[in-house]
Amino acid sequence: MVSAQPASKIVGSGRHIDAPAAIASMPVYRASTILFDSLSEAETAGRRGALGARHVTSYGVGGTPGTMALTDALCEIEAAGHDCRAALMPSGLNAISTLFLALLEPGDHLLVPDSAYGPTRAVCDGLMTRMGVVVEYYDPATSAEDLSPKLRERTRMIYLESPCSYTFEVQDVPAICALARARGILTAVDNAWASPIFARPFDWGVDASVLPLTKYWSGHSDVLMGAIVVREALWSQLWSAVKQMGVCVGGDDAFLVLRGLRTADVRMRRHQDNGLAVARWLEARPEVRRVLHPGVASHPQHALWQRDFSGSSGLFSFEMEPAATGDLGGGFNAATAAFSEGRRFFGIGYSWGGFESLIMPGRLSGIRTVRPWDGGTLIRLHVGLEDPADLIADLDEGFAAMLRAVAAG
Ligand SMILES: *Cc1c(COP(=O)(O)O)cnc(C)c1O
Repeated sequence: MVSAQPASKIVGSGRHIDAPAAIASMPVYRASTILFDSLSEAETAGRRGALGARHVTSYGVGGTPGTMALTDALCEIEAAGHDCRAALMPSGLNAISTLFLALLEPGDHLLVPDSAYGPTRAVCDGLMTRMGVVVEYYDPATSAEDLSPKLRERTRMIYLESPCSYTFEVQDVPAICALARARGILTAVDNAWASPIFARPFDWGVDASVLPLTKYWSGHSDVLMGAIVVREALWSQLWSAVKQMGVCVGGDDAFLVLRGLRTADVRMRRHQDNGLAVARWLEARPEVRRVLHPGVASHPQHALWQRDFSGSSGLFSFEMEPAATGDLGGGFNAATAAFSEGRRFFGIGYSWGGFESLIMPGRLSGIRTVRPWDGGTLIRLHVGLEDPADLIADLDEGFAAMLRAVAAG
């Protein structure tokens, strides 16, 4: 088969399995019961054949043609050229906790970036700590050399998220993976921000990636799902844990993610263009101290981003000039409320990656332990697929409303 470009894979992958002839899209499969041709099939391997050589199922929890089409597509796109397998989880966060539960043991040492997604920290400080995993946070801007002294005899995994949540530090994932591999340590990355359209974590050398399919993969703010993609060597350990926990996804949701995926390439390019247009406009605003977007030249790890990523998404933050917000500091306050509330195109909401623009002030105080946020008010934007001129005009009104609120005290 001719090796296809990513955009072609986005359109074409996961369409071969058992789809009735002449239907372009994989239909919805809802199934608990799977029927067998014989007792021996029921007793031993389960059902193969129509599902393709890689797939066997004996019960809906183990997969349906719809979920298998999706996992095949994920492997082809996220891990092109690598021998990988994927498992679907009911949310991105569940993919993260399941990855940890499946691969870590009591006494293992787990390194986690200090600016990881908030709920990931909650899993580390909660379930993982209770299970006896020793969690240590590290500065996400740390080089592989500086991370090296943190490795212990029981270090089992270096977890990565690049760029990180809210402050968008870009990690040197290839160098950290090389360091880890030399010491027999696993690496796993949260590939939420770039999606595989703009980042190829398995080319960087990771052993596993977690995909919040809720975000850019599905792209329409109407479904929750996650996936874990692992190298073949880790598959049996992962799949055994997944089966013991009985986690699985519904056929309708798998259908929605696969349908959303078909337009991911064009959506991501529009998110990129719109995001950069808004970021550049913000950089020139007197109320803005700095823009935290890996794709703009002022970002501290811009060169690293240029080396490892082929594009940028629509998610980034900016820090207000303290004087412009009346020195109110971070979090939700009168200035951020005036800026954020009542916007025409930017909704107030957390779960980004859909078609629409969103605004959310960052509340980082008291959360980070290695490098606490000491800057001013931080605003995170998700720049959607609207016309960028409308988005800029909307934010312009936000600044005017903020300045009025600060002047009124
Ligand atoms: C949203 C998000 C997740 C979790 O995805 P859900 O499907 O909402 O649970 C994980 N990591 C990052 C970086 C995210 O932004």
